[in-house]
Amino acid sequence: MESSSYNPYQVAQSQFDKVAALLELDEGVRELLRQPMREYHFTIPVRMDDGAIKVFKGFRVQHNDARGPAKGGIRFHPMETVDTVRALSMWMTWKCSVVDIPLGGAKGGVICDPHHLSLREQELICRGWIRQVAKNVGPLSDVPAPDVMTNGQHMLWMLDEFETIHGGRFPGFITGKPVGMGGSLGRTEATGFGVIYVLREALKVKGIDIAKTTASVQGFGNVAQYAVQKCTELGGKVVAISCWDQSDKAAYTFRKKSGIGLDELRGITDKFGGIDKSRARDLGYEVLPGDAWLEQDVDILIPAALENQINGTNVQKIAKSVTVITEGANGPTTPEADEVIKQRGIFLLPDFLTNAGGVTCSYFEQVQCNTNYYWEKDEVLAKLDTKMTSAFAAVNDLAQRRKLYMRDAAYVIAINRVAEAVRLRGWA
Ligand code: NAD
Repeated sequence: MESSSYNPYQVAQSQFDKVAALLELDEGVRELLRQPMREYHFTIPVRMDDGAIKVFKGFRVQHNDARGPAKGGIRFHPMETVDTVRALSMWMTWKCSVVDIPLGGAKGGVICDPHHLSLREQELICRGWIRQVAKNVGPLSDVPAPDVMTNGQHMLWMLDEFETIHGGRFPGFITGKPVGMGGSLGRTEATGFGVIYVLREALKVKGIDIAKTTASVQGFGNVAQYAVQKCTELGGKVVAISCWDQSDKAAYTFRKKSGIGLDELRGITDKFGGIDKSRARDLGYEVLPGDAWLEQDVDILIPAALENQINGTNVQKIAKSVTVITEGANGPTTPEADEVIKQRGIFLLPDFLTNAGGVTCSYFEQVQCNTNYYWEKDEVLAKLDTKMTSAFAAVNDLAQRRKLYMRDAAYVIAINRVAEAVRLRGWA
């Protein structure tokens, strides 16, 4: 499988090198930005339910904090590698920068599989993780969040441990908390809605009426469901959804040419975002192979499931009708496929711009916590729309002026802002 052949850190560095050359960055700035500023590698000893001590490996990588406190999630994954965490921390720096929020980039992880851990064991890992980095993270320096296989409960255990160590209440230390415990309204919808705010602006630029478009989506989890919701609210028609079937260990595409019904599909979806096939057939859906979503005769493709899904082996299957690809997932397109999409002149809306609604709302959560004043949902979503709209406008404007591919334009803006912060601080 092509996905496993990429070292994500090497990919992140080569993307950076390309843009650094375009920007003619000084050697010192280049050297500083192409690697993380700080890395913490540590062990977390946990007394397991059977009485034995098991030692887990944890990481926190702070790529850059020149524009503000480092920001990024904590992943629990059995195959976690430090190179993945390094790459993700770098991408967080660019993501926060491209939407112009005053935060840097970080990522963390623990090598573990929560499927095989009791809640008590997970709590001890969370508390142990904080004990190892309590002096190096905080609301003014590094603000974690949930990510792969971590959630609001994990964040609250971590917050509680941090507050116990430091003595006080610091709700702005961590984001992704449940609403009522310092979490922000609108966070659940933020990434998916943000994807469509960006798409809406892109279609305006192209002179295309969203109400006359059709879309095909990969994924039916948090990002995809809210993207489909906002897209249909604006009049767009989603005709196909692809998702993973946990029992079959296979992906399927569910197609209804008259347009999928979001609520009816939500009603037959499990908590992992998998759709029940036989009930879908009963509701009039055609059940097709997992990658059929990519081959549909639609105007818009929205990959919103996983990384490396559009790759060298399937990029040629994208239908001629496709004019826009809106990347909801992180890294859904491999560099090889990206080149083909660029040559075909498809308007690609790059992941770290398009799916930045989540981190933007996390920033809003931090602001609300730090001021102890919580906003209504409409206010959160209106502010999100403003941020995503202006981020798109800046990237699109540069792309037009300098005849750049949208992904390159987004990198140029993001890296330039961080390089400028580094220079202004006198670091390089
Ligand atoms: P999720 O776990 O809620 O949903 C994932 C979906 O992908 C599920 O519907 C699953 O069935 C589907 N899927 C998995 N493997 C598949 C396959 N091979 N073919 C088709 N479908 C498949 O995840 P999510 O939170 O919606 O995140 C989706 C992507 O967006 C990830 O790349 C994530 O890193 C990225 N992202 C998420 C957020 C966020 O706020 N949730 C923010 C930024 C980026």
